[in-house]
Amino acid sequence: MLAPFAVTMRFPFLPIADYEAHRAAVDAAIQRVLTSGHYILGPEVGGFEKEFAAATGAAHCIGVGNGTDALHLALRALGVGAGDTVVTVSHTAVATVSAIELCGATPLLVDIDPRTFTIDPEKLDATLQRHPGCKAAILVHLYGHPVAPECVEIARRHGLKVLEDCAQAHGAAFGGRTVGTWGDLAAFSFYPTKNLGAIGDGGAVLTGDAELAASVRRLHQYGWEERYISKVQGLNSRLDELQAAILRVKLPALADGNARRRELARRYTAGMGETACEAPRVADGATHVFHQYVVRSARRDALLAELQQRRIPAAIHYPQAVHQQSAYLGRVQAGVGGLGETERAAAQVLSLPLHPHLTDAAVDEVLAALRELR
Ligand SMILES: *Cc1c(COP(=O)(O)O)cnc(C)c1O
Repeated sequence: MLAPFAVTMRFPFLPIADYEAHRAAVDAAIQRVLTSGHYILGPEVGGFEKEFAAATGAAHCIGVGNGTDALHLALRALGVGAGDTVVTVSHTAVATVSAIELCGATPLLVDIDPRTFTIDPEKLDATLQRHPGCKAAILVHLYGHPVAPECVEIARRHGLKVLEDCAQAHGAAFGGRTVGTWGDLAAFSFYPTKNLGAIGDGGAVLTGDAELAASVRRLHQYGWEERYISKVQGLNSRLDELQAAILRVKLPALADGNARRRELARRYTAGMGETACEAPRVADGATHVFHQYVVRSARRDALLAELQQRRIPAAIHYPQAVHQQSAYLGRVQAGVGGLGETERAAAQVLSLPLHPHLTDAAVDEVLAALRELR
């Protein structure tokens, strides 16, 4: 039998390494939940919601089932529905765009700034001028790099509500302002490989607005205002007690984990000179949390094959932009200026192994391989 990908690779797999690092506390947390008999919306979810809101600087946090639901519920709370248009990027996890269509709304996809891989502020402005009446924007802090903060102002000037997609950016900031507090609401994922990861699915919505918070809280549990009485048509998307208990163990380690990611990223960037790759840039004022360390290369496909041959777990995020995927092809609208930078990025990006439990030597090994493959 073939060993799973995670085991055949040369470096430790993040979810396993993270569990090993917190093993005793995670095991104790799981035992605590198992013997409590309180498995749904109990003290662990309540505790985590308070702790995650405090860590991010938001007034309200609602735990939900996953990051896609967090985006969907946040849009629903903003009143997004059929006939509405929501602006976002095509260079993102498909969940960003999927959440828009789950509401019955129409996505409008704007190109990225090739330097930061996040939404291009000028193209956003031009697109909103051309398409008046858009309802909301989802700003995606991709790879852990914060979106240019002026995008919030641009969206608001055109009358849009702002939802941040923070699924890859737990702890990122710009000018000291932590992401997740910039817009009307923010969506997080705790998928096991995210910077803050559970041992299964999990997500959260943050907001500073008490009414939006109450709306998400209703929508995520059958639309209930009180038990068994639905005020609105809702769904079931709850953060699990077990996952919340595990997240409470890992949350205090997030800042150190992000600092270690930055340290390893600096090591990569310093050594990228004699390779066929271009190191990622960090905008002035940005605190990047390197969910992914993404280089560009004209020889991307060959490099990926060679690295994987050497059992170095490199990957592509994402091989096709959302508008290029068959579920969306020919069906979703592009913003002003088209999606040229997005398509160039999809053809060139390569994510090198990076997480807090990697050693300096692992990074040096990847760099040595890239120099050899030059
Ligand atoms: C992971 C991710 C999501 C979706 O989160 P899930 O928990 O997998 O549903 C949404 N947006 C981005 C940018 C992501 O990386």
